[in-house]
Amino acid sequence: MSESLHVGIAGAGLLGRLAAWQLARQGHAVEVFDPAPDAGPRFRDGFASAAQADAQAQAAGFTAAGMLSPIAELDNAEPALAARGWRSIALWRDIAAALPGQPFFSAQGSLMLAHRADLGSAQRVLDRLRAACASPAWTAASPPEGARALAPAELRALEPAVSGPAHAWLLPGEAQIDAVQALLALHAAASGSDRARWHWGRRVEIAEEGGALRLADGEARHFDWVLDARGLGARPGLPVRGVRGELVWLHAPGHGVRRPLRLLHPRHRVYIVPRPGDVVLVGASEIESEDRSPVSLRTAVELMAAAHSVVPVLAEARILHLDVNLRPALPDNGALVRRDGRCLRINGLFRHGWLLAPALLEEGLALMAHAAAPPQEERTA
Ligand SMILES: Cc1cc2nc3c(=O)[nH]c(=O)nc-3n(C[C@H](O)[C@H](O)[C@H](O)COP(=O)(O)OP(=O)(O)OC[C@H]3O[C@@H](n4cnc5c(N)ncnc54)[C@H](O)[C@@H]3O)c2cc1C
Repeated sequence: MSESLHVGIAGAGLLGRLAAWQLARQGHAVEVFDPAPDAGPRFRDGFASAAQADAQAQAAGFTAAGMLSPIAELDNAEPALAARGWRSIALWRDIAAALPGQPFFSAQGSLMLAHRADLGSAQRVLDRLRAACASPAWTAASPPEGARALAPAELRALEPAVSGPAHAWLLPGEAQIDAVQALLALHAAASGSDRARWHWGRRVEIAEEGGALRLADGEARHFDWVLDARGLGARPGLPVRGVRGELVWLHAPGHGVRRPLRLLHPRHRVYIVPRPGDVVLVGASEIESEDRSPVSLRTAVELMAAAHSVVPVLAEARILHLDVNLRPALPDNGALVRRDGRCLRINGLFRHGWLLAPALLEEGLALMAHAAAPPQEERTA
């Protein structure tokens, strides 16, 4: 897009902020609307009813563990998702380096772990990953290396803090990003360009094909283009549903965990993700419910017991937050990138938003650039 455009963005979550920063960087003027009171994260502690929790909802992007796991996600997704994931990892590396304060990004691979008694169910996961890596759908992109079994000495060298699991596999090239640092840095960088205006406390009711945003207070704002990045807030225009996810924040000085770890367990999947500042995230449940009320005892016990069984030193960790949010998912659990006239809609990022966002935005901006063509719909898995 060579000319300078005025773009209205509905939603200042993961996609909205990434788009605001990229468009402002390209010389476009952006205005971003979001019902949140400000740009910061808000971690709620103490009891809140479901209604109170809804009213205080924050972007799912803040809750996410920030794992960029194209291989592990092949367990329940198509190779096309993984291909976008690899593209996004390459883009995040450059984005993180370009942002102020350089949010934490690391691509040292991740580990899958299994206790001796759980090898059977772990093998089933590995078989699915192997089959996905061998899929003919990889013809356009080179297939990933897949999971590589580690000998005990290799595991000790890579992750000395891990003790307990008898089996380990390395997923090379997988990455992670600090979601909170990245969201704050995207906001700061876009604001610093003087080409981004943020309208906090303003809810968008409709993102229109004609390039207008209709706000909850009745005002209509007209732009050259609009981007609908409201996640769950895009209802009823899009059939998005929320999938509950619960996650524990721990403070564990000297924990020693170097890369994301996933425990393969027959009943639940648990991951342990190290963050700067001695923080470790343990997640996450996946429950077909739009309940944002606090984390259940069952989830907290399962997550923390599993984490402790893999990294015993976490027994002395202190609990910082128990966080809950809803992942925006479409009926087929696939991502949507669609142009309706002068409105670009990106949604359905589900459990892979950080893994997919840069690649999806790249595709969306390409649709905008080719807008001379008649209106078209692109539905992608
Ligand atoms: C527990 C958990 C763990 C996760 N872990 C990972 C992970 O490790 N890796 C990964 O890739 N993904 C992960 N995700 C998924 C990821 O967080 C989401 O896919 C991603 O945040 C979706 O991005 P989004 O921009 O579409 O929505 P959001 O980040 O939710 O942003 C939507 C924004 O729109 C705003 N909004 C809502 N309604 C309106 C309205 N009417 N008008 C204007 N604005 C509105 C909201 O306030 C919000 O700011 C996780 C999610 C959860 C819940």
